[in-house]
Amino acid sequence: DWANNGLIRVLLLGESGVGKNGSDLCHYWKQWQSYLCGLRKCYSYEKTILMDDEDITITFIDDWKKDLSLLTFDICLLIFSLTDRQSFHYAVELRLRVREAHPQCPIILVGNKSDLVRSREVTYEDASANATLFQCQYFETSAALDHNTFQLLEEVVKRLRSTERMG
Ligand code: GDP
Ligand code: MG
Repeated sequence: DWANNGLIRVLLLGESGVGKNGSDLCHYWKQWQSYLCGLRKCYSYEKTILMDDEDITITFIDDWKKDLSLLTFDICLLIFSLTDRQSFHYAVELRLRVREAHPQCPIILVGNKSDLVRSREVTYEDASANATLFQCQYFETSAALDHNTFQLLEEVVKRLRSTERMG
């Protein structure tokens, strides 16, 4: 439950290199504290944001490689790189696996690296049509320029609040 005292767990899934975490380039990960969560060899990061006068702590679970059904999370971000068509197909495949293990879990499809305009391999139309087909939302971000990333987090919070309201 989201109301879990303003704590939410976000699962990040996607092919390697799409921008789930990492380099100094990425403001949206930079400030985040990272730590190894136990023996599961899964990295998670915590970030506290202020939204509507409320502190919300988001735990990002990065790059889960094991059985998805073992994992507890509130929402899944399926991330691909707009400059890598293969990573888009992989995200589509991952979505089937998430749906199988967590049929009710909210999913948001995220096309990252929107700043690399000239090497784009996936159009907005393609990705958003695909998201519509599978009844999930679609967002384009640039972690490098910190573009649309806060809006994405806002959407995550809004989405979970509305799920909570519906019970
Ligand atoms: P991960 O393997 O999914 O965790 O990907 P990383 O977060 O390690 O990022 C892989 C590479 O993509 C790094 O060199 C990042 O600097 C770069 N990268 C990540 N996000 C963006 C972005 O929005 N724009 C650009 N141009 N590069 C990015
Ligand atoms: Mg990574």
